[in-house]
Amino acid sequence: MLSRRLDRAGFSVTCAESGTAALSMLDRGGYDLVLLDVSMPGLDGFATLEALRAKPELAQIGVIMVTARDQTEDVVRALKLGATDYVSKPVNFPILLARIEVLAARRRAEVALRASAERFTLAMRGSNDGLWDWDIANDEIYYSPRFMNIVGMGEEERVGTFDLWLDRVHPADRGRVTADLRAHIDGVTFLFQNEHRLMHATGGYRWVLARGVAARSADGAATRLAGSLADINDRRVLDPVTRLPNREWLADRIDRILQRTPGTRRPPSALVIVGLGRQRDIAHGLGNAAAERSLQIAAERISSSLRPTDVVTRVAGEQFCVLLDRLDAPTDALLVAERISAAVGETVEIDGQPVDLAPALGIAVDTGGYDQAETYFREAAIALDSARAIPEAPRIAIFQAEMEQRARRRLGLETELRDAVRRDELVPYFQPIVTMDAGRLTGFEVLLRWPHQRLGMVSPGEFIPIAERNGLIVPLTESLLRRVTAADLLPKSAGFLSVNLSARHLASDSLMPFVHSLLDETGFDPTRLKFELTESAMLSDEDRARRVLGELRALGIHISLDDFGTGYSALRLLAELPLSCLKIDRSLVMNADSDPKRQRLLRGIMEMSTHLGLDVVAEGIETEAERALLVELGCPNGQGFFFARPMPLAEARTLVAGSAA
Ligand code: C2E
Ligand code: CA
Ligand code: CA
Repeated sequence: MLSRRLDRAGFSVTCAESGTAALSMLDRGGYDLVLLDVSMPGLDGFATLEALRAKPELAQIGVIMVTARDQTEDVVRALKLGATDYVSKPVNFPILLARIEVLAARRRAEVALRASAERFTLAMRGSNDGLWDWDIANDEIYYSPRFMNIVGMGEEERVGTFDLWLDRVHPADRGRVTADLRAHIDGVTFLFQNEHRLMHATGGYRWVLARGVAARSADGAATRLAGSLADINDRRVLDPVTRLPNREWLADRIDRILQRTPGTRRPPSALVIVGLGRQRDIAHGLGNAAAERSLQIAAERISSSLRPTDVVTRVAGEQFCVLLDRLDAPTDALLVAERISAAVGETVEIDGQPVDLAPALGIAVDTGGYDQAETYFREAAIALDSARAIPEAPRIAIFQAEMEQRARRRLGLETELRDAVRRDELVPYFQPIVTMDAGRLTGFEVLLRWPHQRLGMVSPGEFIPIAERNGLIVPLTESLLRRVTAADLLPKSAGFLSVNLSARHLASDSLMPFVHSLLDETGFDPTRLKFELTESAMLSDEDRARRVLGELRALGIHISLDDFGTGYSALRLLAELPLSCLKIDRSLVMNADSDPKRQRLLRGIMEMSTHLGLDVVAEGIETEAERALLVELGCPNGQGFFFARPMPLAEARTLVAGSAA
């Protein structure tokens, strides 16, 4: 009935069946005003209002609440939640019409104000700025209507003191505002200009840009400061690529929830961070536009896996975050995460190329334990790190206290590794590489060990990735190479020494000069030296790899392709790069004796290597059955626990002495 009468009064009206439907209609835009009933099936009027105000692009839309007569507390609650006005039921149509017209007039006034403000454009740049004028001596500020509108100030605040402004500034921004202001008043800067967050009447913060210039008395003292205030919230809060709010916005929202209801009385919530695993590859391989497109697709897919009241935010380059508020049970978060993982994990086609976005999800659950958004974020991010390490989809991890311990351990190791490298505390172990049939020693792979005072032997699987990240890998490998090429380390009969070289080292300009001076200084026979490199190390910059490997080969140093069978296994590389040896990864060897498919694969690899003149080592031989199979397949060399484990230098010496005898 209401809608028919409004229609007749000249408004264009659409009805929504429910709060949820209203929210998705509003998302599509094009509305000036919302009439919202309090009691509705499903999402009630208050929840709808709250969800609507939580969306940055709807924070300003007019909302008239339709309440039952004499429900004063409903009215108060609605206004607190950000309703613009209210009418009570049964609706008195003329009153409703009057109120709508007031709001419409206000909207028109805003438009008119914008038009009149245009006159200031030259002075104030931007027609949408609020104006302020501060009489410093009397500490009285006048605010323009647009200024008041940006922060939702009431009419009674039109004239105030400067402190009232400062009170509204986000505590984290306050220091910079006063410092910038002081600098301008003191004449240090020639313009006062500061971006900060101002508390809006509805409770949240909005980003503003304040600019001003002081008028000065004859002695140079500032007497007045006047300027403009621009609402830059959309620019600051909405990510331009996905049009999603950013991390700061979410942190602010979480902090408000955590502060509103402290502790265990709070309904459980969960923070889910979604990280995309392939963004870098997409950007490098298909370009920036494709990378942006994939982010947009991921954002859409995440949104469509959620309730309409949940807001997706983009919190970092390839990371999205959702706060799942008011969960019935904490475990519901896992169901939502699985839904997101399945949706985002679907292959997408970008520029005609199928792409896997490879999502990983970290979850932190709040059952009253958090008091700060930052902790909440950090723990979800730690869970995300664990999720990323899961080899196959769905990659989902829920934060647990042990994860934090592991993250701490990693951090501790990072610092200690620096000292350990400086003090040369890492020691080489030696694992024999032998002929497959007779078990005769042909050489050793050098594997680093870190004897740690507190933690015992730390494995390279743990510290090498750290060293690669912080660059320590280069000095670490250089000192290892110096040590193993020392003349008296092992006799010639020990055969070759095979040292692992990381991608980062291959990419560093210091590698070749170092190798030259090493060979000069030690006189070590370069043909006894082998470098093991993985495929990905060579693929990251193929031209460079081809050049550097060529130079190493020219010196006589051999190159092994490590972990063959785990990556792309790009056959082209085998033919094009100057390799001397192929190391078949343990994952291909493991239990191959009972797997005919794997046997055919291994046979193929052997044939191909023979054609290309490559030597082959099968890694990770643990059983006699595996060894026998590889002998039958014609694989010349093996390495693995079946023959010998990595051993300290003294044992390696004994072994060499024994095999020479
Ligand atoms: P990798 O190069 O593939 O080295 C072989 C790994 O397999 C070694 O682990 C070795 O102990 C293990 N292994 C050998 N035989 C068997 C077997 O029969 N069964 C099983 N289960 N494992 C076997 P480790 O010493 O823990 O090294 C792990 C990885 O750390 C190495 O993998 C290598 O990528 C890296 N790493 C070790 N030392 C260095 C180094 O000096 N420089 C660089 N850049 N990386 C290193
Ligand atoms: Ca290796
Ligand atoms: Ca290997």
